[in-house]
Amino acid sequence: MIKLKSRADIEGLRRCGALSKTVLRLAGEMVRPGVSTLEIDQFVETYIREHGGTPGFKGYGGFPASICASVNDEVVHGFPSADVVLREGDILSIDTGANVGGWAGDNAWTFACGRVSDEVRSLLEVTRDCLALGIQQAVPGNHLGDIGHAIQAHAEDNGYGVVREYVGHGIGHDMHEEPNVPNYGRAHRGIRLEVGMCLAIEPMITLGDRHVHTLGNGWTVVTNDGLPAAHFENTIAITADGPVITTAEDGFDPMDVDEGRNAAAR
Ligand code: MG
Repeated sequence: MIKLKSRADIEGLRRCGALSKTVLRLAGEMVRPGVSTLEIDQFVETYIREHGGTPGFKGYGGFPASICASVNDEVVHGFPSADVVLREGDILSIDTGANVGGWAGDNAWTFACGRVSDEVRSLLEVTRDCLALGIQQAVPGNHLGDIGHAIQAHAEDNGYGVVREYVGHGIGHDMHEEPNVPNYGRAHRGIRLEVGMCLAIEPMITLGDRHVHTLGNGWTVVTNDGLPAAHFENTIAITADGPVITTAEDGFDPMDVDEGRNAAAR
C-alpha cells in the first residue's frame, strides 16, 4: 500500500532530508586521494548523531555502516573500510540518510576523486541529469513509468546501461516503502502519481554493460564488466505545485546548483 503524506508529514521528511543532504555534501568534500572510506563513514555517523539524528543505514537489514561507499565498478552497497583508500581518478558513490523524528532520509551522489577521465566525468554528468529528468516527471497525473522512461531514455541515448535489479522506492517512516521506482520503463504506464507520494529516485547508470552481480559479502553490487557505475539520488515529495526535493538544505539542493561542489563538474 502506498502511504500518502500530509503537509506535516512532508515537513518531517524535509527535516531529516536537510540533515541527510548536509552530511552527504560534507562527506563529498572529504573525497580526495589518501582518504579511506572508513574515515568518511565515521565522520558521517558522528555528524548525524551530533545533529539530532540517527544514521538510517547502520543496522538496516544488517548493513554495517552509516554510508554505502561504492568505488568505481561498485554500483551500490559498498562497505566502508580502512583498506579502501581513495586514489586520484577514482569515483566514490556515497549513499546515506539520517532518521529524525521518526522519518527517514535517503540520498546519494557520486563524487570524483581528483581528476577523472573525460569518459567518467561524462558518466557522472549524465547520471546526475538522469536524476533531474526523472524528478521533473514526478508531477500529479503522470505515471510511474514516466519517471523511469525519462531516466532510461537519457542514459541509453548517451550509450550507457541502466541497472534493472535495484530501483528507487517510496519513503516515509520507513526508508523503503511502496512503490518501487524503476529507472527504466514506458511512458504513460504504471500507477498514476498523486499529491502526497514521497519517492526516493535513484538512477544507477553503468559506463558499459548494465549487468551486475553481488559480491561474497552479500551486499556489494558490482558491474559484471568491471567498468564504472554512477549513482545519484534525491528524496522528493509530489505536491500540487510539482516535485519538491526534501533532501535539500534551506529549500534548495546545493548539490544541483553549486557546480563548485559538484564532483561531476570538477
Ligand atoms: Mg534509496
